[in-house]
Amino acid sequence: MNYECDVLVVGGGMSGISAAVSAAKKGLRVMLAEQLSLLGGMGTAGLITMIMTSRYHFYGFGRRFMEKLCRKGDARKIEKPAIAGYDYYPFDAEAMKRALDDVLIQSSVTLLLGTKLVGAHCENHRVTSATLFGPAGAFEVRARVLIDASGDAVLCEASGEEILYGDESGNIQAPTMLAYYAGIDFDRYNAFLATFEDGKRAAKINMIHTLIPLAVREGVVSEADLHHPGIFRINEHESIGVMNAGHVYGADVSTAEGFTEATVRGRRMAKEYLDFYRRYVPGFENAYMTNTGSVLALREGKRVVGRYTMCFDEKAEYKKFTDAVMRMDGGAVSDLHASSSDKKAYEAYRALFADREKVRADDFATLPYRSLLAKKNDNLLVCGRCASADRKVMGQIRIMGYCFMMGEAVGLAAAIACRKGCDPSKIDVGVLQQELLNNQIPTL
Ligand SMILES: Cc1cc2nc3c(=O)[nH]c(=O)nc-3n(C[C@H](O)[C@H](O)[C@H](O)COP(=O)(O)OP(=O)(O)OC[C@H]3O[C@@H](n4cnc5c(N)ncnc54)[C@H](O)[C@@H]3O)c2cc1C
Repeated sequence: MNYECDVLVVGGGMSGISAAVSAAKKGLRVMLAEQLSLLGGMGTAGLITMIMTSRYHFYGFGRRFMEKLCRKGDARKIEKPAIAGYDYYPFDAEAMKRALDDVLIQSSVTLLLGTKLVGAHCENHRVTSATLFGPAGAFEVRARVLIDASGDAVLCEASGEEILYGDESGNIQAPTMLAYYAGIDFDRYNAFLATFEDGKRAAKINMIHTLIPLAVREGVVSEADLHHPGIFRINEHESIGVMNAGHVYGADVSTAEGFTEATVRGRRMAKEYLDFYRRYVPGFENAYMTNTGSVLALREGKRVVGRYTMCFDEKAEYKKFTDAVMRMDGGAVSDLHASSSDKKAYEAYRALFADREKVRADDFATLPYRSLLAKKNDNLLVCGRCASADRKVMGQIRIMGYCFMMGEAVGLAAAIACRKGCDPSKIDVGVLQQELLNNQIPTL
C-alpha cells in the first residue's frame, strides 16, 4: 500500500515531533515515520532525560509542552542550574513517551512507528516520494513537503544533498551510552560534594584529575573520560539518576561496523563507571544499574549543507539575519565535546564552553530560515541536529530546547507552502516570521 500526504516528517525526536504537530495544527495531512517503536529520539531512547534550553530563548510549542508536563508532575524545571545560561527540565522518560504519543495522536498526525526511511526519489529539484520500510515491508509515500528530522540527515542524503560528517578529518564529538543508576544515597553524595570548597565543580575536577586516573590504574575503568558530565538526579524524591559518563573517544558511527563497535564500547563503559562510582564515590555504595539507553547517544552525526550554513563567527557576533526563524544564545560559546581523549582537545573544549559564564541576557544571535532549507531539493526541509550550521553552532543548538524551536519553524513553513501551493523554498519568510510570533516565538 502506498500513501499520500501533505507533509512527511522522518524522525520522531523532539524536532520531528514539533514539526509534525505544528504542521498538523494548521490543518495539513501529516505523516511521521519513526524507525524505533517509541518517540522522543535521543531524549527517551538515548536516555537524555533532561531538556536543556537556553534560559533566555525557549518559546512556542516546546515550552508549552514542557510546562504542561511540569504541571502534571512528569517533569520539573530547575530554576538554578549549575551551568550559566541554561535551564533544565528533567523528565520521567516513560511519561514523556506517553505524552509524545498523545500529542501526535491528538494532533491527527498519522504516526508510523517501526518504520524506517530507506530511499527517496527526486525529479526536477523536488523529492517526489520517499521509500519507507515497515512491518509490512517497503512502501512509497508521496508528499508535497518533506522534513528531515532524523538527526542524521538520512532523508537529505537519500535525496542527493551534500552531507558533512564531523570535522575536516571526519572526527565526531564522542558519543556516550547513558545509563540509569538506582539506589543512590543523594544525601551522602551531596555531603561529599560539599567537602569541596567550590562545591560540584571542584568535585568534578577532582574526579577527572584524581579519581578517574586512579580507577584506570587500578583497572576499574578502561578509558578515562576527561569530560565526565556525571550523575544527574531525575526526580528529587527518588534514589535514581541518569549517568552521563564514558565518552566513546575515536568513535566512527558512519559505518555499521564502527557504529556497532562504539555502541558495544559505550555499553561496557556504562558498567565500568557504575563500578567506579560504587568504589570511589560516597553515596553510591549500593547503587545498581537499571538500564542503559536503547541507542547510543550521538552528539554528532551527519548534517546537511543547506542553502546557508550558519557559522560560529556569526553566532559570536550576535548576527541578526533578515530571514531569522529562531533566537539563540550569541557569543563565542559552544558545547563542542572533544573527539579524542587528548588533553589538548579537552582543554580546547573547556576554553570554548567556559564562555557560558558570559552568556548575555540582553542580546542574541539568530538562525536563518535558509539553514533549514535543503539546497538541491525545493520541497525538502531539515531541522534538529542535522540542520545546516557549522560544528560549533550545532554544538550549541543541538540541545532539545532549540530542536523544538527549529521543528516548529519548519512545520509552520511547510504549512505556509501547502497553503500557497508553492515549495518551502519559495514562501514569504515574513509570513513565517509572523506565524512564529503568533506562536510566541520571537524571531528578530
Ligand atoms: C550524551 C548526550 C547528552 C546530551 N545532553 C543533553 C541534555 O542534557 N539536554 C538536551 O536538551 N540535549 C542534550 N543532548 C542533545 C540532544 O539530546 C539531541 O541533540 C537532540 O535530542 C536531537 O534531537 P533531534 O530531534 O534532532 O534528533 P533525535 O533525537 O536523534 O531524533 C531523530 C529520530 O529520527 C529517527 N530516525 C533516524 N533515522 C531514521 C530513518 N531512517 N527512518 C526513520 N526514523 C529515523 C531516530 O530513531 C530518532 O528517533 C545530548 C546529546 C548527547 C549525545
